[in-house]
Parts: sequence; structure tokens; C-alpha cells
Amino acid sequence: MGVKERVALITGASRGIGRGLAVGFARAGAQVVVNYRKSREEADKTVNQIIDQGGRAMAIQADVSERKDVVRMKNEIMHNLGRLDILVNNAGMNRQNFFWDITDEEWDLLMKVNLKSVFICAQEFMPVMAENNWGRIINIASVSGQYGGPKTLHYATSKAGIISLTQGLSRYGAKDNILVNAIAPGIIKTDMTKKELEGPMGKTLVEGTLVKKPGEINDVLQACLHLASDEQNYITGHTLNVNGGIYLG
Ligand code: NAP
Repeated sequence: MGVKERVALITGASRGIGRGLAVGFARAGAQVVVNYRKSREEADKTVNQIIDQGGRAMAIQADVSERKDVVRMKNEIMHNLGRLDILVNNAGMNRQNFFWDITDEEWDLLMKVNLKSVFICAQEFMPVMAENNWGRIINIASVSGQYGGPKTLHYATSKAGIISLTQGLSRYGAKDNILVNAIAPGIIKTDMTKKELEGPMGKTLVEGTLVKKPGEINDVLQACLHLASDEQNYITGHTLNVNGGIYLG
């Protein structure tokens, strides 16, 4: 039922939304792989939070934008847990810069970390899921990918790419019962948005939603748990907005 006894990999789970997803999936009964890139200490905090609540988790270091790291992580998961059922492609980064100031290096970095990582992880883990004829992939896109955010053109483009990639992957996954969906969060309270929310634009951003508040990590978690659940078997190729009605505000 739900995600109980499923093995779930959450990428970028050393903090922010990823940490919340890892803890929430474990609370719902999944065995969680906490992927992190830089800080073992922060990843261990996520793992310990899970263990303290009676859950099961292990941390694996991997830069998900590097093929060799993802292959190593896959081998480690298969060696230790023998399967992977749920993949949440959450790892991502943002840089604020007006169009004219974006360098080639910054453009390439965001495409690699935000978009290529999803391509690599899907290519490596879909065959593993296919072995059990069951899988769920949830890609964390963004509202930015739906409206071409003026101060984050590269970020917005990478997130729009995730929405398209999600549709394409859902075609490839269907025959093996792998459902692939995306979530497009609006403004959620994390390290990534702290400066923006506390800055001069913060109030305007919140006023732009119908519900007049920023989202919580739990809002993304609930959407993600639903898409990952084995009680939902008919949603695929979809992007679910978790944005407090920002389009209508
Ligand atoms: P965050 O607090 O900045 O955390 C990002 C996480 O991703 C960190 O754990 C980071 O680890 C990890 N990461 C970055 N690059 C990585 C890589 N190459 N390999 C593995 N892990 C990597 O961000 P967040 O706010 O939680 O956002 C999580 C996701 O939601 C992102 O994809 C973001 O674009 C998306 N999103 C967020 C919001 C929002 O309002 N917060 C809105 C829309 C979409 P390190 O510390 O090691 O770099």
C-alpha cells in the first residue's frame, strides 16, 4: 500500500526539499537511499532523522550529473538492497542572472545539473525497475519552467526541459509499468529561496499566489507520495503544479 516496502532513491537529499522527501518517504514505510553530492555530514543528518523515527535509510555520495557516479550509485544500491522501485530526481541548482549576463559556463552548469542528471538517472535506473515490472519516477521541475522566468532563463529552460523529458520518458516506461511524472513547485521555503523570500521581491512573490503564502516542503512531499504510490496506476507523463495557484493569483 502506498510506498510501503518500496526502495526509493531521492537525489539531492542532504537538505531542502530532498531531505523532506527522504524523511517523508521513510515515514510512509519506504526504504530510502539518501543521495548527496558534497556534505556527508548533512546527508547523515537526513539518515539519522529517518532512523530516529524508526525508518530505514542509507546515504550514497554521487554527483548525479556525472554518469560514472550514477553507475557507481546504482551498483551500490543493487549490491546492498537488490532493487530500486522509486526514483525522485530532485537534485538541482539555481543561479540568478539577467539574460545578457549569463555566461556559457553558467548555462552549461545548470543544464548539466538540472536536466542532464535526470536523463542519466532515468537511463540507468529504468532497466532496474523494468526487472520487476514496476517503477515510479518523479522529476522535480519548477513553475519557472512554465513561464520563462526573466532572471533565471537558464534555470527556467532546464526545468522546461524536465517537463518535456518527463513526457518522453513516460512513453518508454509504460510497457514496463514505470510511470513517469513531474512536479512543478512554486515558491517553497528552502535554502534555495531564502534570499528571494526575504528580499524586496519576497512579498510580491507571495502576493502572486492565491493562497498568499509560500509553500512548505510537506506540500511537495504529499504530491510526490501520491505519484509514487502503488495505489495510483493511471497518471503518467503529467506535470503536477504545487504552486498555491500562482497562475491565477
Ligand atoms: P536546495 O535547498 O538548494 O537543495 C538542493 C539539493 O540538491 C542539495 O541537497 C544539493 O546538494 C543537491 N544537489 C545539487 N547538485 C547536485 C548534484 N549534481 N548531485 C547530487 N546532488 C546535488 O534546493 P531545494 O529548494 O530543496 O530544491 C530542490 C529541487 O526543487 C531542485 O531541483 C529545485 O530546482 C526544485 N525547486 C525548488 C523550488 C523552491 O521554491 N525551493 C521551487 C521549484 C523547484 P549539495 O549541497 O551537495 O550541492
